[in-house]
Amino acid sequence: FGELTASLNQAFGLLQENVDRERQIVADVSHEIRAPLTVMQGEASLALRRKRTVEEYERCLQVFSSESAYLSAMVNKLLLVAQLDNASGLLNLEDVNLSDFLNELSPSFKTLCEEHLLTFKFEAETAIKVRGDRLKLRELLFNLIDNAAKYNRPEGEVSLSLKTDKKLVRIDVSDKGIGIKPEDLGRIFERFYRVDKAASREDSGAGLGLTICKRIVDLHKGRIEVKSTLGKGSTFSVFLPAPE
Ligand code: ADP
Repeated sequence: FGELTASLNQAFGLLQENVDRERQIVADVSHEIRAPLTVMQGEASLALRRKRTVEEYERCLQVFSSESAYLSAMVNKLLLVAQLDNASGLLNLEDVNLSDFLNELSPSFKTLCEEHLLTFKFEAETAIKVRGDRLKLRELLFNLIDNAAKYNRPEGEVSLSLKTDKKLVRIDVSDKGIGIKPEDLGRIFERFYRVDKAASREDSGAGLGLTICKRIVDLHKGRIEVKSTLGKGSTFSVFLPAPE
């Protein structure tokens, strides 16, 4: 009976944890969706209070356009998070020559960095292979490079490197940007976690990018680590198993 009670308690505990987790997800998502909706509602009711000039209506529509773009990007990311939650069977695994793959992607990464007036550096050992899902790996790399570019400094630098490290494949994305405080490091992979909650839509996203990265790496049976010094920059390292 003692054993039975212990296992039942454990099972109920787990169930309760799941219920709490789902409740928390619904609360988080509602909270995140409410903010842009409130902005749009406020803008609309203000604009409708009296007749406005064309410029005022234009400004109002611009707010609508950027808030709805943000909402739609967030919903797309949320769908991806949900999809990745039960995606182990959905991964489209194939042999990927990661060296060639990164070489193909690097011009796009360079453009992304140049849009932020940053230098992009890339070095890769040749013929490194992994078992992976190309689309998901692409999503992972774009999120990491996008962050390295967003949280950088004017005329800063982003670098991407690929090598083998103790029988694992290692991808490093480094920046010389703003860095992350030690107390935030453990939380940045959480859903909706942003270090600077007050940052504008352009400067920061919905806090889902790294959640997506972590899930993609987990699904590939790898791990992701971050090292960062505030004010100096960060390095995100992805370790993936090398094929036998
Ligand atoms: P977001 O969409 O806000 O960029 P992420 O999940 O990708 O969300 O990142 C979570 C938070 O971690 C970001 O809001 C930012 O505060 C911090 N962060 C992520 N990458 C970096 C980086 N390279 N340098 C500094 N801070 C970063």
